[in-house]
Amino acid sequence: MLVVFFGPPGCGKGTQSEYLIKNNNFVHLSTGNLLRAEIEAGSEIGLQLKETIGSGKLVSDDIVVALVKKNIALDGQKSILFDGFPRTLNQAYLLDEMLAEIGKSLGAVIDFQINHEKLIDRVSGRFSCSTCGAVYHERNRPTIHPGVCDHCGATEFEHRADDNPEALAKRLISFDEMTKPLREYYKQKGILVTVNGDQDVDTVKMEIKQALGL
Ligand code: AMP
Repeated sequence: MLVVFFGPPGCGKGTQSEYLIKNNNFVHLSTGNLLRAEIEAGSEIGLQLKETIGSGKLVSDDIVVALVKKNIALDGQKSILFDGFPRTLNQAYLLDEMLAEIGKSLGAVIDFQINHEKLIDRVSGRFSCSTCGAVYHERNRPTIHPGVCDHCGATEFEHRADDNPEALAKRLISFDEMTKPLREYYKQKGILVTVNGDQDVDTVKMEIKQALGL
């Protein structure tokens, strides 16, 4: 099954992705993670990406689509969870083309609806494990043992450079202007499933499971 998680930064896509990957064998294809890995690699393109992502703007469709193509080829036979992709209509068209080439199509697009006020709190307290990438929140989802990752036991954590109020404001503008139109696109295709992202993690998890028939 091929699924897209769609919603603004901080809506819960990352948290819910962890669950699907762990319990339902989905391959996680997060363009944000792939782009951050490019930055970590320290390439010339990584430097440009760092600036773009840090300022809250969208990376060009060419770069993002090339990364997705590379990773779809690797994971061709499995269930894939697209997290944060597509983010523009052009990316959505290109994804459809790519999938058609390998004889597949999207099964569902989970649309996380959330009150924008809540996003500032969610994003500003977010941190992740430097070793396995597990995502936590200072107030809403701390580690069980302070300073120790629940998943891998590592003790180093990091905050994303774009998880600050200025970058978040730009990311929300990008979402409203460039990404929101995708809702209508997928609604027309009959595969859009709306989930109320304001609810607690377990309730959202249940709604997603039901929507995907898991
Ligand atoms: P995320 O981890 O999904 O919140 O993505 C972090 C940042 O990476 C975004 O704010 C964008 O700058 C960039 N990015 C991630 N996915 C995409 C995409 N599909 N299209 C354009 N830029 C993206």
